[in-house]
Order: sequence, then structure tokens, then C-alpha cells
Amino acid sequence: MDTGGNSLQMIGTDATKRKVCYFYDPEVGNYYYGQGHPMKPHRIRMTHALLNHYGLLQDMQVLKPFPARDRDLCRFHADDYISFLKSITPETQQDQLRSLKRYNVGEDCPVFDGLYNFCQTYAGGSVGGAIKMNHKQCDIAINWAGGLHHAKKCEASGFCYVNDIVLAILELLKQHERVLYVDIDIHHGDGVEEAFYTTDRVMTVSFHKFGDYFPGTGDLRDIGYSKGKYYSLNVPLDDGIDDDSYQSLFKPIMGKVMEKFRPGAVVLQCGADSLSGDRLGCFNLSIKGHGECVRYMRSFNVPMLLVGGGGYTIRNVARCWCYETGVALGVEVEDKMPQNEYYEYFGPDYTLHVAPSNMENKNSRQLLEEIRGKLLENLSKLRHAPSVQFQERPPDTDMPEEDEDHKNPDERWGRHMDTDMIDSSRDERKPSLFNNQQTPHIWVKKESVETDMKDQNDTASITEQGKNIDKMIEDTTSLKVTENTTVVPATIVEQPTPIKPDSENNSSVKLSSDLPSKS
Ligand SMILES: [Zn+2]
Repeated sequence: MDTGGNSLQMIGTDATKRKVCYFYDPEVGNYYYGQGHPMKPHRIRMTHALLNHYGLLQDMQVLKPFPARDRDLCRFHADDYISFLKSITPETQQDQLRSLKRYNVGEDCPVFDGLYNFCQTYAGGSVGGAIKMNHKQCDIAINWAGGLHHAKKCEASGFCYVNDIVLAILELLKQHERVLYVDIDIHHGDGVEEAFYTTDRVMTVSFHKFGDYFPGTGDLRDIGYSKGKYYSLNVPLDDGIDDDSYQSLFKPIMGKVMEKFRPGAVVLQCGADSLSGDRLGCFNLSIKGHGECVRYMRSFNVPMLLVGGGGYTIRNVARCWCYETGVALGVEVEDKMPQNEYYEYFGPDYTLHVAPSNMENKNSRQLLEEIRGKLLENLSKLRHAPSVQFQERPPDTDMPEEDEDHKNPDERWGRHMDTDMIDSSRDERKPSLFNNQQTPHIWVKKESVETDMKDQNDTASITEQGKNIDKMIEDTTSLKVTENTTVVPATIVEQPTPIKPDSENNSSVKLSSDLPSKS
């Protein structure tokens, strides 16, 4: 199944170079969800350290994201929700219990120091990547801090506060008629699917564990609604899926999606909780198997945004995203790990790759064939790729990347606090991502309500949502503008400036095309 619609001639590994820009904020590793919480932004800093010591930073344009502003976030999110995220602090949260409940903040999604800045940073990276792609300044943009696919318009969910993916897709829709979203996190990409459920301009495809698992949505039968019918694809999987089983679905399905939908840009969410041995996951993918999804999507030569997502055994998350950055660059990184500031995390073998386990694969060959058959049948009902008439190009979000001294990151919270710990203080009162096994009854109920709603075409809510997304997309495509929008808007005060890995000269723009190529 190594071919199937990809546009490049494949001879061995696909060593054709791509221009890659990589977004990283040295502060991001300092945000801390709280003791015992499995989501650790520190894993982004560990990933960066591996990229640095493997020598991959010099093959990419390295950019510090410009923080997303309120109005950028409000292109998808409700104003009152963003105001709440901006104002809430650990000190004041006791006075806002009703709001905490209303916005689902406090349990899975705790209030912590710098929460709003964290949201601005990870959203800024994804939107910044979309802008670079729209300007054709890179073939692949990477933001490992992004990928927070559960966030909803008016509420936080599953460790996610703002949905950087939805915001990036809205930006890409300014330049592209059709955008494809692919999600290989072990959890269903519910926030992104919901946002685009009624449009044919965004196709969402999610591969995930389904059945007694957070968030409970992502049934094979959920295929989109109204104009969006057949433009949502869900691939429900069971425990223990291995590389071969996964690819027996991923390649034929994504090959057919690329052939039928013909997207102008792809967003690939690379959640690493689908790896073997994840603290919250139950799949059995190797890093190579996970990375094969990146390699395959890259082979179509369509501009691509790679974002992170879940991933809770943080040493493996860093390994995975380092490897996948190499895949993006067309570089096969060595298994033997170079010395780095987090070397002790990677013992006893100190290798990039780790063996999958011998756990049982509960996905029978027959079940996989049924799923594949059903999805290919749905895809065959897509007659053609929809197109949209662009009048004039809308202006970019004026979000340049900041100039940056690449100094040693502030380690004010110390990395000892980010080591993997077993959490003994799990709260069982609310639907929860990291509590999943303890509370299936709550979200199974939610799932059946949602499925019923879709099955019965109880249209009120979905139609309302469809109006919302049509309005959002309209805002991105039919604005009257007088400037040629490839010109940077006048409000930008400085040109994007890359972070230099060597921290020396920060004043000049270093284009990745100037860099020596590897391998
Ligand atoms: Zn996940």
C-alpha cells in the first residue's frame, strides 16, 4: 500500500527538499498545568532540545510566533469566552465559580499562571504557520505547541482552551478553496470536526480510539451534515492497533481523500498519544509507524501545517516530534541520541526509537476491512471537489513573528516538576480526558445524545452552527480589500525575523533556501 495516489515518484525515501518553517517560543516549556496533570508543555522544550542537538534547526527557518490577539482568537471563539480566559487567574478563580463551570475550566482544563499567554502563543504559532504557507514562504510549517483539537467555540475541553487548528484553517481558507484536516491523535478531533461539520470547503478525517473513550464522539456514521455531508470522515479503532493495521487504513483512505477532495493545503495533527506506551493512550504504534503518516501526507507535495496535540509519555513525545521534523525535512535522523540537556529522560537505551509492546491488537482484520470498505464507499459519493469563487483576496491576519534573542529559556518552574508522575489525585466528578476510564458513563451519555441528534436530523442546532461557520468562512473570503493582499498589511511594524539557533546575529532574515541541504 505504498502508492495510492501520491503525486511524487517514490524512489526509496522521498529526499526531495521542502522549505520548512518551524515555530517555537522559548517560554512555552515554562507553562505548567499543575501537579499531577498529564499535559506538560515542557515536552515542547524537550522536542526543541532534540532538534537542536540533532542539528535539524539549521535546516529550517526557526521563528518565534507572534502572540495571537483577542480579535484573532475571536474569529472562532465567542467574545465572552475569550474575555473570561483573559481575566481568570489562579488567585481570582474562587470568585468566578459559575463562569468556571460554564466554560468547563477548572478540572481537565485548569486555571494556571499565564494561561492566556499560553493560548496566545500556541495559537500564534499555528496561525503564523498558515500565513507563511499562504505567502508561499514555506512548503511545510511546524508548530508542535499547537494541535489542541478539543477546544470548542465557547468552552475548554480535554486540556484545550483555544482551538488553534480551527483558527489556522480559517486563515488557510483565505487562499485555498479546500483545506484538508487529518488527525492521528488517539482521541477524536471533535472540536475541529464540529467547527466544519456543515461545510464542504474543509474535510476532516480523524483516526481514533472509539468506544468507552474520551470525548465519546467520532462514530463511523458521523459523516457531516447539509453541504458538509461526506466531508467528515471518522475512523473508529480499538485498543492495541499496530503499525501495519494502522497503515492498512491510513494509506488507502488518505490516498482516496487526496484524489477526490484535492485540497490546496493540509493540516496534520500529530498527537503522540497514539504511540505505544502512552500514559493515557492504548494504541501500539511505533514512532516510525506514526511518522509514516507524516511521510505519506508529505509525499503529495501539497503545502502542509504540522501541529502537535496529545502525548503524555513525554520522552516519547519528544522522540516522535523530533523524528517527524526530520521526515518533514527529508532527513532520516540517527537512532543513537546525541547528548542534550534532557539526556537522562531517554535512558536506558538513549535511542530515538523505542520498540512497541506485545499488547493484543483488538482490531481484527475483518473489522478493519469493514471500516475501510465503508469509508471508501462514502468517499466514492464525493462527486467532485467543490470550488468557490474568490472575488478578491482577503487581507492576512497581521500577525508577524517577533524578533527574538535566542537565549536559554527561563526555567523558573524547573524541569524536575515535569517528570512523568503517576497521578494519585484524580477527580471523578466530571467527564475527563485523563480520567477517562473512571467516568465512561458520563460521556457515553453525551455521545448517544449527539448521535441521536445527527441521526434524526434534528436540525436546529446543526443548522445554526452551519450558519456560524458559513459566516466565518465568508468573513475570510469575501471582504472588499483595496490592497494586493500579498503585501504585508500596513499595521505590521516589523518583518518576520527568524530565531537563530546559534543566538548570534538576529538582525537579518535568514531564508531556508539559503541553507545548505542535508543528505
Ligand atoms: Zn489525545
